[in-house]
Amino acid sequence: MRRCTVAAALALGLLASCARPSAAPTAPRAPATAPSGGSPHLIVLLAVDQLRPDRLSAALPGGLGRLMREGRVFADAALQHADTETCPGHATMLTGRQPGPAGVPSNEFVERDTGRRVYCVEDDGEDAAVIGGGAEPAQGRSPRKMRVSALGDWLKASQPGARVFTVSGKDRAAITLGGQHPDAAYWLDRGPAQGFTTSRYYRSELPEWARAFNRAAGGEPAFLARVPDRWEHPTGAPANGARRDDYPAESAQFGRTSGHPVRDPDVGVFLERLFYTPFLDDVTLDFARALVRSERVGLGPGVDLLAISLSATDPVGHLYGPGSQEARDALIRLDAAVGDFLAFCEAQVGQGSVLVVLTADHGVLELPEWLVETGASECPLPTGRGSSRALAEGVVAALHSALDPKGSPVAPWVMTSGYALTANRRLAEERHVPVSRVVDLARRWLSSQPGIVHVWTQEEIEEETGPAPFAVLYRNSFDPERSGDLIVQPAPTCLFSPSSTGTSHGTPYLYDRAVPLVFFGSGVAPGVVRGRAATVDIAPTLARAIGLELPAGLDGHPLALQP
Ligand SMILES: [Zn+2]
Repeated sequence: MRRCTVAAALALGLLASCARPSAAPTAPRAPATAPSGGSPHLIVLLAVDQLRPDRLSAALPGGLGRLMREGRVFADAALQHADTETCPGHATMLTGRQPGPAGVPSNEFVERDTGRRVYCVEDDGEDAAVIGGGAEPAQGRSPRKMRVSALGDWLKASQPGARVFTVSGKDRAAITLGGQHPDAAYWLDRGPAQGFTTSRYYRSELPEWARAFNRAAGGEPAFLARVPDRWEHPTGAPANGARRDDYPAESAQFGRTSGHPVRDPDVGVFLERLFYTPFLDDVTLDFARALVRSERVGLGPGVDLLAISLSATDPVGHLYGPGSQEARDALIRLDAAVGDFLAFCEAQVGQGSVLVVLTADHGVLELPEWLVETGASECPLPTGRGSSRALAEGVVAALHSALDPKGSPVAPWVMTSGYALTANRRLAEERHVPVSRVVDLARRWLSSQPGIVHVWTQEEIEEETGPAPFAVLYRNSFDPERSGDLIVQPAPTCLFSPSSTGTSHGTPYLYDRAVPLVFFGSGVAPGVVRGRAATVDIAPTLARAIGLELPAGLDGHPLALQP
């Protein structure tokens, strides 16, 4: 059978045949001892938010291409969970655990007892307030919702001199990568802090070098000086391989073509626009360089760990799609920026002393309208796009008419969050309606909607009795207290979204699950390795590479970094 890549599938309209978890054999596992010849002083994890592996190539001239040429490429790597979002994806990378057992099933979840929507890294403790950030209880940030430890914790427990830092454009990426007790996790706060910050969970105040990085100069934070006023990019379709620019299904939020506005006298507006451009990654890497220089990262007595999540690919992909002129330009800029950063790390620590991992937290669906136009859509909906809002309102209305036949609704019978639905237990108790009846009515209504192939119940997920081959993916995403009572599985290439433009991720299909996984540098033999490999394998692989004992009960396995 031909090996099925996402790129080939999109080109040939064969997505359904690629929509199953890979049946490829497992990639070779590592020997029981650390490989000889490599002793990294610095481990750098580069997570590129929403980067699909079919967008990478050894022909890229910069750092991404270098990693593909000189690294060990696990070419069939994919997430092994169904809810392919940022928080769970990042949580798998350095914990070695699937998102369910890690306590991070989704970016946001509804607590069953209270019916409250909770963000995966929120913390209402005063000791978790964001430095310079908002004072509302839910605005605190920490990893306390994560139920497991991570590579940084194992490293620090075994090597007291080791240091662990994370940096990202997004708080949820920096925090989940850091594990429980890193030296610091830094992210860009577009809100009150208007700069890179952390929370009091990690530090009582920002170090002087970070304050200097954020300091205002000429009316805006100094780190924004390098950002251009507008994002100009080529529009040369079809010659340059990307879709024609100004495509109608792209988001018009910041304009659909070259010249997207970026700089604004209002720093809040400026930062919000910056978030949707490749320049977000430039300032994130500038911050990482300032961190490495100031903290002498990689030059300490132990192995240091620096985990960086580069966020820009995700917002750009959401607005314009991965095949857009914008995404193409952003990738070229990212390739150059990663090349510069790798060279910087090697100059700082010494070539041969750095071990690099490149991966992603999830992929993304191409714009559904483009899939329809090119004959690649598998979705029964005419445009490939359904309204998540209409779906949520529809199920609430259906439950209301079934359960409140006479009165007006007091409260919705279910709460929705992404593809998950949670029954309103307080209302069910007040009205003496069994929760199971609410759940069953919702399941029946949702199952009859076009574009939905299955509605998963908790029982099916926990007992893995739902349709193969997806059952194990949903089980790996499942947390019995935080996952919904029901999880909706859309049909392949159907997008249920609150927006009428742009695209997203979050399904168990390979376009959302396939991710790059490349190891490079100290102790790593270049090559392309086929077979099953996953982001949960990263932490055990790195732990083995530096001679750490693996904690019991990991979901991932060490991958061999030598033939
Ligand atoms: Zn993401």
